Amino acid sequence: MRTVLFLDLDDTIFQTRPKCPGDDVLHPVAHRRDGTPLSFMTPRQRAFLEMWLRAATVIPTTARNLDAYSRVDLPFEHLAILDFGGVVLLEDKTLDAAWDAQIRPRARAFAPELRILHAAVERIIARRRLGAYARVIADFDMPLYVVVKHPDGDCALLAVIHDELRASADLSRCFVHQNDNNLSLVPAFLGKEHAVRHVVHHRLGPEPVLTIGMGDSLTDAGFLDVCDYSLMPRACQLARQRLPGCEGA
Ligand SMILES: [Mg+2]
Repeated sequence: MRTVLFLDLDDTIFQTRPKCPGDDVLHPVAHRRDGTPLSFMTPRQRAFLEMWLRAATVIPTTARNLDAYSRVDLPFEHLAILDFGGVVLLEDKTLDAAWDAQIRPRARAFAPELRILHAAVERIIARRRLGAYARVIADFDMPLYVVVKHPDGDCALLAVIHDELRASADLSRCFVHQNDNNLSLVPAFLGKEHAVRHVVHHRLGPEPVLTIGMGDSLTDAGFLDVCDYSLMPRACQLARQRLPGCEGA
């Protein structure tokens, strides 16, 4: 039976240097726009990915947009799910038209609200002089979600923004997700699980497939739950929620 691994990328199969174990030889696999290395794989992560690339169809399932995904230097050969499920990118780097026809009208309809949320975040950052920055992540001419980061990785300041947003903005049509130095405001019509279901039903052929999901964040829980089996890195955000008491060795 064909095995398909839906694989989150950041903090699942690679991570930034401060999150890497201190004594491992690190292999750079994702880069900034200027070409400098940003994220790294450990030898264990490389061995893990190589095993799955031999054994399964590996489908990256990530919040990255095409620009950020293009800066990941790993030998993925099949389609990819980007932008929290907003884009299904085919092998020839074109859009899955059927999926795009579902997402694009919703993204267009939500665009004014996304601008309002982005402006609300920027007001909080400016008023409280938090030094964070907020960006609307767009792809294929669709504004899709807002991401907030702090240049010094100050997660506590992002939590302040999150708290103020809850008190002052209408968040009823989106979900707010924080994992370390990444606060995302994601419209409710997005979700990796929706795109995974679409791919399973429309892109993998008529034969049954064995599906495995792997991710580290609470936003990955939905797509792990639509797969036959779930995998998580040790002591990640999702493991801490699902396996209380696990803090790793
Ligand atoms: Mg992740």
